[in-house]
Amino acid sequence: MASQTGDIVQQSLDTLMEEPSFLPQVQEEQRKQVFQSLAAILSTPNKINKAFLRVALCDGKVLRIPAFRVQHNDTLGPYKGGIRFHESVNEDEVINLAALMTLKNALHDVPFGGGKGGVVLNPRSYPEKDLYQICKKYVQYFTDVLGPDKDIPAPDVGTSEREMDWMMAEYKSIHPGKPYLGSFTGKSVVSGGSLGRREATGKGVYFTFRYLLHDFIKDNQSWLSSGDNVFAHTALDHMDKHLTIAVQGFGNVGSVAALEAYKCSFLHNKVVAVSDRNVTLYSEEGLDIPSLIDYISSHRGDLPTTDEQLQALGISAVIKSREEVLTMDVDVLILAALEDQLHKDNADQVKARIIVEGANAPITGEADQLLSKKGVVIIPDILANAGGVIVSYFEWLQDRETIFYMEDEVYKQLFAKMQKTMVSILPAYFADPLPLRQNCYVHAVRKLSASLYRQGKLY
Ligand code: GLU
Repeated sequence: MASQTGDIVQQSLDTLMEEPSFLPQVQEEQRKQVFQSLAAILSTPNKINKAFLRVALCDGKVLRIPAFRVQHNDTLGPYKGGIRFHESVNEDEVINLAALMTLKNALHDVPFGGGKGGVVLNPRSYPEKDLYQICKKYVQYFTDVLGPDKDIPAPDVGTSEREMDWMMAEYKSIHPGKPYLGSFTGKSVVSGGSLGRREATGKGVYFTFRYLLHDFIKDNQSWLSSGDNVFAHTALDHMDKHLTIAVQGFGNVGSVAALEAYKCSFLHNKVVAVSDRNVTLYSEEGLDIPSLIDYISSHRGDLPTTDEQLQALGISAVIKSREEVLTMDVDVLILAALEDQLHKDNADQVKARIIVEGANAPITGEADQLLSKKGVVIIPDILANAGGVIVSYFEWLQDRETIFYMEDEVYKQLFAKMQKTMVSILPAYFADPLPLRQNCYVHAVRKLSASLYRQGKLY
């Protein structure tokens, strides 16, 4: 497991070891042994599936494309997690992301384990027909380890409902007569996907931020103001202010989170900057997010990059370099692009006081420490971006029953589930000095450990 996740899991185990009410029946030598077993289990994946997909491309070339499916842990249910298509995919990264899924599902009481897939390619460089072949090959190579009760992939960076539809169809033809709808989630609605799945991660990211900053803080204002929790004081300071927000990444997560902020009437907030792989757009008055979303839908997902394009849209904004979004003078920074975006070389230039992790692992361990020391509040990935996997779970349930929920019902259940998680961790968080990320990990590791112990796995 790559270092940051592994370190925090180990710290969480150390905390639990010292907690007398946790597994009180296990004492002394046996306690040491049980915690050693836990560390060994949680720090290593159960299985790393690796293949070189042999694909004949439209242009006549035949490629061997490296691909992974890492199955980290299935204590709480079948493995679950996305498949990413990106040129920088590598084994360590996929292992780390699979571990993060184990923890995310445990934290939110989603009855799945953790897995992750990756294919080393830039999907923008291939025509649709090639991508279709690559998706089919992925399922063919990994078919024995996948399935609705074994391991259920979903979209991630570089994949979407299109790829999930293709993959499910391939799974169905390899396993005739077997249940197949729940073999992949994040499918299109016509293929058995859930209403609201596409928007779920972005909506969940904004909901987490809004709930923490507005609902929870407001309801608990009196006791929070007397304590010394940095988050509480930052949030209280910002409560009746107009918050400025910058969003890094304008894909499925960033654009939806930005739209939620734009529409939100609970908080005085405005999105002053958004960015993608090419540019940052900035407007002090706030950007017209619906028009930008319209624009990207007909421009391969890219934001406008010239003044002429902005003028044609009727949008006034300043064009800046794509990195500038990270260091803007704003209150809130939502990171919804890739991992390792804030690192030791740029973390000290961050001006935002609140950072929300919409992407998985967008802040390196070193940057995390640097920022936390500066008093920056970080709402971590496993808490904030679980909307996707939570609605994947709803999709899997709907596929089993072949009864489908209304869109409003999906969001209602999504927010209720995320709120339940926050209600169960926030009082402890506000009462002790551990950062929020660490708090979430302790909660997730506690659940996994108790379950492993009861299943007789710790010896
Ligand atoms: N790829 C998403 C994540 O990292 C969703 C996973 C899923 O729906 O299984 O949380």
